[in-house]
Amino acid sequence: MSTTNTTSELKPTKILKCKNAECKAWVRDEFAQEDQTCPICKGPMMRSMRHLPAVQNKVPSKPRKPKNEFDI
Ligand SMILES: [Zn+2]
Repeated sequence: MSTTNTTSELKPTKILKCKNAECKAWVRDEFAQEDQTCPICKGPMMRSMRHLPAVQNKVPSKPRKPKNEFDI
């Protein structure tokens, strides 16, 4: 296995960005709450697009567990 396909290829990604032009806050649409407000100024946000590196669905803080995770 090589890591050659993990280069920073940018993909058009749905985001929510703050309506305040002076506020640079934005969040990925997939991580946004249903009624997302700006995490910085608490103002309203609007849908937009942004070219971002593809998300890697790895969650480092979630180690692989045995099949019965409740039986320790
Ligand atoms: Zn804001």
